[in-house]
Formats: sequence, structure tokens, C-alpha cells
Amino acid sequence: MTTTTTITTIATPSVVADNTGVNRSAILKAVKTIVLENRPVPTINDDQVLVKVMSTGICGSDIYHYNNPDAPHGMVLGHESAGQITQVGANVKMRHVGQKVAIEPGFLCKSCEFCRKGNSHVCANIRYAGNDGTDGTMSMWFACEPDMAVPMPDHISWEVAGCVQPVAISVQVARQAGIRPHQTLAVFGCGPLGLITMAVAKSYGVFKIIAFDIEPARVAFAKTYSADEAYTVPRDYGGKGSFQFANEFVKTILAEQGLIYGVDVSIDATGAEVCMQMAVIITKPHGTYLQAGFGKALTLMPMGLMAAKSISIKGTVRYGPGTFEDAIDLLAREKIDIAPLITATYPLSKMQDAIAAQIAREGIKIVLMNQE
Ligand SMILES: [Zn+2]
Ligand SMILES: [Zn+2]
Repeated sequence: MTTTTTITTIATPSVVADNTGVNRSAILKAVKTIVLENRPVPTINDDQVLVKVMSTGICGSDIYHYNNPDAPHGMVLGHESAGQITQVGANVKMRHVGQKVAIEPGFLCKSCEFCRKGNSHVCANIRYAGNDGTDGTMSMWFACEPDMAVPMPDHISWEVAGCVQPVAISVQVARQAGIRPHQTLAVFGCGPLGLITMAVAKSYGVFKIIAFDIEPARVAFAKTYSADEAYTVPRDYGGKGSFQFANEFVKTILAEQGLIYGVDVSIDATGAEVCMQMAVIITKPHGTYLQAGFGKALTLMPMGLMAAKSISIKGTVRYGPGTFEDAIDLLAREKIDIAPLITATYPLSKMQDAIAAQIAREGIKIVLMNQE
């Protein structure tokens, strides 16, 4: 895969106290180069809150930026964080100092057609922390608007709190797919997105979940975690084309599962062409196919089959209004358990090791502790 991680630590503080003026931050300086720098603690205005960031999940998109020569360099990485409010602006009424919060990483314009009509996940002017040049949350302090700091109960651990954002993404996936009790569901991809989406679907009362991945270890984990059945997709199609292989593979599994018509909902969380083709094949007539993973720009898809089966095709990105609240509710009431996915935690000061582990795909979900 990728080669080396370059890391430089600049003036790391020996003791971390409350707002000492030190704001150690992980900066994407250049391709494959992350530098820890002490930046100024953000000064909030009357309409903002200051969050002492405690934990941050590392995401596949962080690694994508890390490896991408065209990524916006100079920004702080990170967008999956939780922390504690330590300061509120004079005009802030709905938040207070001491609250434990998950950070919604999207700065919304609140004026475009999509924001105005409740579809802020596709805000036309969104600035997204740690993605588009907007500073992210892999820092000790983060300033944002109060509605981007979503309160959560204290009994959720900081490690789990750093994973609220991916749960919110999966809540959005379930909303977009119209997941309902008693349905059958196929999920392609047993990385964090697929696994958490299956956990959310299970908590919503789905009848049967069938999972797919190319890595046997992930398939085995999915079966112990949130899938009812899980299958390894072979990398070798035995000389067949991908669509012929997909057709035969899916038909065998449906027969094995006694699902003659297919599943009600299929979700692709991979962006891999063969998985997307299998997702169409496995969806029953009048069912729903949802694209959640990102892969290459153009994919060969059996559109005629989609039409013939009257399948609804949908896409999803980010999270919509209220998904953080729903995600926190699922975690707070222990309807889903994210802890088994958190395979390692690293102090922010050791983020080179964390990035290397993420690149080596050593665990499922790695969480940074921002104050350490
Ligand atoms: Zn992410
Ligand atoms: Zn907008």
C-alpha cells in the first residue's frame, strides 16, 4: 500500500491544562506528511462555543486526503470528534459550559435551498471540517456554532463519543434507504460504514441482514457483530466476467438463504463495481438500492435490470438534520454498541503511529485522544 509517514513534532507541551493557550493540531502539510503544530486556541465570537476536543475517530477519508497530492494542504485533519464545551459566546442560549458534546463537522450556510428545506446534508455552500481546506478537529480545541455541538449524556465513554459522527452517517443511510422493521437487507462492505449501518438497521428491527466483504476476517467479525449471515466475495471470478460472476454468486446465496425474490433493501458501502452489480441483482422487485460507498467515477451497472425490477435507486452522503441526536440516542440507550469496533486508541501526540495503523488496516476503528 502506501509507504512512509513523515511526522514532526513542534513544541509539544509537557503538561496539558485547561486552555493554556496551546492548541496542538495535526496539520496535513503535504502529500503523506502530517505535522503536529501548536496553533493558537481559537477565539470565539458571541455566536460560537469553544470545545475542548477529547476524542477523534480516524476515517478512511483522512487517509484519502493524506495520500492525495491534490488535497488541501495546510488544514487541520479530522471530522469525527467529541469534547466538552468550555466557553460560550454572549448570544448562545442553548448550550452551556461543561456540556459533553459530539461535533457535527459541517459548517452549513443555512441560506441555500437545501438548508432551507431540511436537506442540509447537500448544502450548496457547505464547508466540511478537515476536508475542503476548512480546519478539522484533530486539535485540542475547536470553535463552532452551538448547533454543531450536540449534547450527549456523560455515561457515553470518550472513545465511543468519538464515533458519533459515523453512527450519524449510518442513521442517514437508514433514513435514505427507508429501513423498516421486518425487512431483509444486504450490505456490501464490512468496514466501519457497513458494520455500523448493519447495527443501526438491526436496532430498527430488520428481520435478516446479509453481509459481504472480500476480507475473510472482516466477514467473520461482521457475523459476530451485526450481520445475521456473512459471505466472503472471492477476488478471483474463475475466468468469468464480473456481471456473470455476480449473478451466479448472488443466486447461490439467495437459494441458500431461502430468499427466492431477493432482499427488500441493498446497500453498497464499498464503491466496488462487482459489489454494486451484486447489490442490484440481490434486490427484490420493487425494492431499494442505496449507494453509500465511493469508488471510481464511472461504473458498469445493469440499468435494464433495475428498470425491469422497478427498483428505487438512491444515493446518500454525509448526515441530515437530527441524525446526531438519533445516533446519540442509539448509543445512550445501548441499542447499538460501537465499543467492539474500536480496536485501538492513540494519543494525538502519537498520531503517526495511528495513521500507520490505519493505513495497514490493522484495526476497524482507531480513535485519537486529543488532549494526550
Ligand atoms: Zn469520516
Ligand atoms: Zn446551505
